[in-house]
Amino acid sequence: MTIAPESHSAGAARAGARRLPSTGVLDARRRPLHDLRISVTDRCNFRCVYCMPREVFGRDYAFLERHELLTFEEIERISRAALANGVRKLRLTGGEPLLRRGVEDLVARLAALRTLDGDKPEIALTTNGSALAVKAEALKAAGVDRVTVSIDSLDDALFRRMNDVQFPVRRVLAGIDAARDAGLPVKLNTVVKRGLNDGEILSLAEHFRGTGHVLRFIEYMDVGATNGWSLDEVVPSAEIVAQIHARFPLEPLAPTAPGETAKRWRYVDGSGEIGVISSVTNAFCGSCSRARLSTEGRLFTCLFASEGHDLRALVRGGATDAELTATLADIWGVRDDRYSEIRSSLTPELRADRARIEMSYIGG
Ligand code: SF4
Repeated sequence: MTIAPESHSAGAARAGARRLPSTGVLDARRRPLHDLRISVTDRCNFRCVYCMPREVFGRDYAFLERHELLTFEEIERISRAALANGVRKLRLTGGEPLLRRGVEDLVARLAALRTLDGDKPEIALTTNGSALAVKAEALKAAGVDRVTVSIDSLDDALFRRMNDVQFPVRRVLAGIDAARDAGLPVKLNTVVKRGLNDGEILSLAEHFRGTGHVLRFIEYMDVGATNGWSLDEVVPSAEIVAQIHARFPLEPLAPTAPGETAKRWRYVDGSGEIGVISSVTNAFCGSCSRARLSTEGRLFTCLFASEGHDLRALVRGGATDAELTATLADIWGVRDDRYSEIRSSLTPELRADRARIEMSYIGG
């Protein structure tokens, strides 16, 4: 991608990016750019079978070298350019983001940035919870507003089997408590795979009912090419909701914000809410406002994208902030992604042929 030495609005205008003063840039489907998910490491201390299977991510797997990673200063510059294009929420992901040394310093840098409205961007973090008990206070103090913790089972043996490093569930539960005690709102993500942890739905719902934590069930997705995904291992969200409703009556809730991925349900008895994220059976591409930045600086406009735009080369090539901002507007302006809407129309061969980035690399 070449940088044309022209002003931001000219760059955006040339690429057909429609730019609204206060909301930022729109893509080819008039979807705004609201969320930037930032993968700060491609490494993880877990080997979750649906994300980072050990057979692929084994001892000899070539993870990114340190010099390949974006520095905190580079992440800050790219985030500033994203905020100038309308982003309001920055989410730190990985791999496991708490493995990146000094991640609190990165949070503090990002917390000092401002949105188009002059507000502090919302800073969220997605983690496997393994280090949360130690880090929660420091993350809160640095500027994290909320955390999302992955928890796929309460059954310790199954939990250890699913993370495939024998990590005990009690330590993740302790991390969740530490986040709560630090004043961090907690959302919980459970990826449901038929034949593996679909028997855990009710016990998870029962355990977190009344805690104030929002438990979300995620349909197992064909992200990347290493998890051996098949449609018959997907438990449709409708089935999950029906199962819980039969035990703890539920009613639908309105979305909290445009582009929210989860469909919200509240317990009729007032003991909280759950969510379901249905990329397979109820695609939400129509309001998808998320871009993803990989650990080494590639910008992806869809979780199921085959390739990204190399922003690191721009940053390390001397691009100005204005050129970086214009380039992001150009990229987003022509974005037309809607993989989840077309997934079912793709033949298995076509889907298999389509290169896709790994979940562990781009952080979901
Ligand atoms: S498939 Fe792509 S466009 Fe659709 S919701 Fe997911 S990330 Fe967004």
